Amino acid sequence: MLIIAVDGPAGAGKSTIVKKIAQAFDCVCVDTGAIYRTVGVFASRAGIPTDGIEAVVPLLDQMEVRVAFENGVQKNYLNGEEVSAYLRTEEISRYASVVSALPAVRAKFLSVQRDIAKENSVVMDGRDIGTVVFPNADAKIFLTATPEERARRRYVQYVEEGKDVPYEEVLRTVKERDARDEQRAAAPLKPAEDAILVDTTGLNEEESVELVIRLLKERLS
Ligand code: C5P
Repeated sequence: MLIIAVDGPAGAGKSTIVKKIAQAFDCVCVDTGAIYRTVGVFASRAGIPTDGIEAVVPLLDQMEVRVAFENGVQKNYLNGEEVSAYLRTEEISRYASVVSALPAVRAKFLSVQRDIAKENSVVMDGRDIGTVVFPNADAKIFLTATPEERARRRYVQYVEEGKDVPYEEVLRTVKERDARDEQRAAAPLKPAEDAILVDTTGLNEEESVELVIRLLKERLS
């Protein structure tokens, strides 16, 4: 079984790139952020505020998170209910960012992530895949771009969706989430020593995909 780790900050283009990698290398594409987002849905429904998120820890035993793949598409289940449609809101992004800093939450999902790779060749998109989840992955990519470029991409997406959010606010949120991911004690965001660093600043989607696939082919040959 092949394991490809793709880590990096939000907005670096990981989700598009991992889908293309999955096609090119015939593996299942796993979005590990969705697991933390599912925990976020649980915390939100339990009425736990983001600034008092530790209150979720004693409730973790009441929470079962499972991911399944149907025709290559990831479905995320919270206590048996499919919650995939609720994961991509601003509120749940905030929750995911804080719940994922809790060591008890991270520990609970290590085996969930590792088990997926027992049955499938995988490309996994996350923050700590190459450093913590699969330190022995066959290939590791650390995908990044400047905060300004990542904020610009998100801003363009918001404009296309008809959302009116000032660029400065998008940039501030990007920097805040980076800081939380990089500075947390549990599995902070950082490149693995043997990761291939790819900076997509100034590259479009097609160029980024082409570059990453070429680098992976070299690494895996
Ligand atoms: O990748 P995505 O933005 O969906 O991830 C949601 C949140 O989950 C991020 O803010 C990040 O802090 C966290 N995360 C993580 N470890 C991973 C994947 C995501 O801490 N492997």
